[in-house]
Amino acid sequence: MHKSDIIVIGCGPGGMEVASRALQQGLTVTVIERGHLGGTCLNRGCIPTKALCRSAEVIRMIAGSAEFGVDVSSAVIDYSKAVERKDSVVATLRENVAMMLSKAEIVTGEARFISPEVVEVNGESYTAPRIVIATGSSPASLDIPGASLAIDSDALLSAGKLPASMVIIGGGVIGMEFACILSAFGVDVTVLEYCKEILPNFDRDIAKRLHTSLSRGGMKIITGAQVTAISEGKRVEYTAKGKPGSVDAEEVLMAVGRRPVVPDGAGQIGIEVNRGAIVVDDDFATSVPGIYAIGDVNARMMLAHVASAQGASVMGDRVNLGVVPAVAFTAPECAMVGLTEEQCKESGLNYKVTKSLYRANGKAQSIGETDGMLKLIVDGDSHMILGCHVCGAHAADLVQEAALAMASSLSVEAITSTIHAHPSLSEILHSATL
Ligand code: NAD
Repeated sequence: MHKSDIIVIGCGPGGMEVASRALQQGLTVTVIERGHLGGTCLNRGCIPTKALCRSAEVIRMIAGSAEFGVDVSSAVIDYSKAVERKDSVVATLRENVAMMLSKAEIVTGEARFISPEVVEVNGESYTAPRIVIATGSSPASLDIPGASLAIDSDALLSAGKLPASMVIIGGGVIGMEFACILSAFGVDVTVLEYCKEILPNFDRDIAKRLHTSLSRGGMKIITGAQVTAISEGKRVEYTAKGKPGSVDAEEVLMAVGRRPVVPDGAGQIGIEVNRGAIVVDDDFATSVPGIYAIGDVNARMMLAHVASAQGASVMGDRVNLGVVPAVAFTAPECAMVGLTEEQCKESGLNYKVTKSLYRANGKAQSIGETDGMLKLIVDGDSHMILGCHVCGAHAADLVQEAALAMASSLSVEAITSTIHAHPSLSEILHSATL
């Protein structure tokens, strides 16, 4: 029997955080991982997609270079080179993780619970007084005829070549990020989204703005579309506004969400699972004492930085888990923190909305990023920030200042009275507070 102070199952952003904090605290740590260190985020999610996003950005920059007085002959994607770069970024970061966890015992294999204290991997038993499950999630699929003809985001990231055309089922974060990458690479993209608008979890004004911007650039986006079947030859059938429709493409991407991956034996030892996710309390403790579950596997909020924050919290750090920025790395980028206007309305809050346009900002004009808007929602009585929503260049960085104000219980006046450097995109948020 192998013994340690803490066992971490799954080495994505959540598991990595727990393991590294535990090592810092001088504990002996066993990390069990069936795939590569870094989990979905590093190997099949955030990092590889952002590497491809950057290739897409470079193409768009070159395509628009004449506006800046730079004469570059047309940009052509060498996809195998872009994939090679993506893989090398991933490999470097994987090495960093291995180095960071060099003092931990790393076990490669699939963990299975034998008892509340014992986990089995490759026929060996491991025990610890504390076990943290951080096994993440895997792509979900629709229960429709022909669903197996579609590929998921994992398969798309490991594909060696680009199709000429792609239907993307699901206009959520994964669907829209890939839609933007692929269309920059010259793929003819059609997005089919079930809800009334793409990015349904984002503020409607922001999602609409992205929709308009992408449609103007030639992307086909069909909302209110329920996909019903995929037939041989990759014809995707759907119903929209009560009418049937179909789109043909060389490849079909299924991007309709992700579902938690619960380790084998969890149910048998009494870990409560509800609708596929491990049930946890506010300290991320499961129904079995000594066992915790963090990240996508508890389905509280499927975001890499949330998994890390939950991991830090399990290891005793004080983390504000109530203020969570979220980003869609689309082109233009969309980011949010706090409540959407729709949520404020539904909750009957007394709120005030101000909008600030990128085109009124000197830095945005100088860098040629004038297509953008920031929307600030402030409580009408307390002047506390309820939400900040951005569609435009560096949106992720812009919402972060609002996130800090919200997490620190600062009123909007704290931003107004802070000098913002000129010329900078940060003035877009400042303007919205005036
Ligand atoms: P999602 O839930 O964000 O989007 C899935 C979309 O599919 C939804 O818009 C939904 O309405 C649509 N859909 C469902 N059934 C459909 C049907 N029959 N026909 C057409 N559309 C249908 O899920 P995702 O985009 O797959 O992402 C999974 C998770 O990973 C999310 O929690 C997401 O936040 C996270 N993620 C985050 C990032 C990031 O932070 N940048 C990037 C990628 C993924």
